[in-house]
Formats: sequence, structure tokens, C-alpha cells
Amino acid sequence: MSEQDTIFSKIIRREIPADIIYEDETTLAFKDINPQAPIHILVIPKKPIPNLANATSEDHILMGNLLLTAKQVAQEQGLQNGYRVVINNGIDAGQTVFHLHLHILGGRPMQWPPG
Ligand code: 5GP
Repeated sequence: MSEQDTIFSKIIRREIPADIIYEDETTLAFKDINPQAPIHILVIPKKPIPNLANATSEDHILMGNLLLTAKQVAQEQGLQNGYRVVINNGIDAGQTVFHLHLHILGGRPMQWPPG
């Protein structure tokens, strides 16, 4: 297992199960195992970028694909009243899995500011 090999790499390789709802060549989306809202989906690049701080200009198409996938998934999940997209970057942000991911949270009103 390499330094960048996380639980999400295992999900990409189908070594552990996940409720996958979208996949293409570069991107995967699946339900969060510990949902914080009625709908809580993670959108990840297949490339094992640890977090946003480690993305580079070479990743600009990939980064755009992640956001557009989040929009598409949210639409398909019926979140027409709104949703939140979150990236936790690093320890202070509460990041626990060091494979870049977008959280899509929806299905209830969200509070602001977040904790
Ligand atoms: P972070 O705190 O790093 O921003 O978010 C990591 C997210 O991954 C958490 O919301 C956590 O519930 C989710 N997660 C951790 N392990 C697994 C897993 O094995 N399967 C799925 N589907 N989600 C996971």
C-alpha cells in the first residue's frame, strides 16, 4: 500500500464495497458511509491527490470535472432546493481521508457558519 493509497483507492478498485452512484474515466461518486444529511455523497478523482492543497495546474480539467459532476449528481438526487458542496482541506478542517473529495450535502436546511 503506497502513501497515497487510502480507503478511497480501495473503493475505486472495488476492493471494499461502496454505494457507487456515478463513474466515468476520471471521477467516482458514492454515498458517504456516515451521512451528515439525508443526502451525503462524496465525489472523488480517481487520481490519488491527497487534498486541495496538493492539486496543481496540471489538474485543472480534473478539478473542473469534479465540480460539474457534483452539480450533475445533485440534480439527479433531486436537490432542487439547494445543497452544500464542501472540501475539508487538512487537519484543521477535519479532513480524515487524504484522497481529495467533495462532499455533497442536501435534503435539509444547512446552518451557517459551519462548526
Ligand atoms: P473528510 O472528513 O476527510 O472530509 O471526509 C471523509 C468522509 O469519508 C467522511 O464523511 C466519512 O464518513 C467518509 N468515509 C470514510 N470511510 C468511508 C468508507 O469506507 N466508505 C464510505 N462510503 N465513506 C467513508
